[in-house]
Amino acid sequence: MPGFGASATEFLPVLHKQAPSPIAATGRISFISFELLLSALIEARVGIPYIQPVLDGLRSLGADDPDSLAVLDISAFASHWTGPSRKRMTDLGGTLKRFASSILAMGGMDLVEAASQESLRSAWLKIPGLGPSTVDHLLQLAGFPIIPIDRAIYRILVRHGWIAEEDGYEEAQNVILSAFSNDIATLQALAEAFSHIGKRWCKATNAACTACPLAPWLPESGKPYGSGAD
Ligand code: SF4
Repeated sequence: MPGFGASATEFLPVLHKQAPSPIAATGRISFISFELLLSALIEARVGIPYIQPVLDGLRSLGADDPDSLAVLDISAFASHWTGPSRKRMTDLGGTLKRFASSILAMGGMDLVEAASQESLRSAWLKIPGLGPSTVDHLLQLAGFPIIPIDRAIYRILVRHGWIAEEDGYEEAQNVILSAFSNDIATLQALAEAFSHIGKRWCKATNAACTACPLAPWLPESGKPYGSGAD
């Protein structure tokens, strides 16, 4: 069976068609927005529907920049909400506050923009509550040639035999990076397309292979998981 790189060269045109939005990145962006990074953190911790309400809430509390967010009154932030549980929002408030403190410790957003991928990854991985997938998502948003491995990407890699079930985060990431190192646009396109395929066809409980655009690249032994009932 062809490895990931050879297969991806064939299926990328198909994945591009499945991507939910056009992929336009061609290199590291020149300005990293603090709000964009916060949005990614909010999405990772409480989901997309809360991105804008939380950003609005922080604004109303006067805590929407690194200096003010680093001294956030977490109790006031958590009691601001009626929907999500207080514990969930307390955890989120703590994560956002620690992230803002890390930005200040690095010297502010200007120096973050000039920092290397390795130094940012190392600093952000030290923040309690941030795992490698979230940190790599932040780095990808900042325009670095990396891909976060979420559950959907991991599932697809395992189900197609491109990694073994016992492989971990780094092995899964290396399979993709070794095929597309420094190709920021392709890495972003792969992340978006795999996420879309994972939500629509390749779910944890069922692999709806019959209708999935990646079916032609299943292992010769056939579909490894799920039923054919799409
Ligand atoms: S072909 Fe099947 S295993 Fe492969 S990504 Fe699609 S649903 Fe998942």
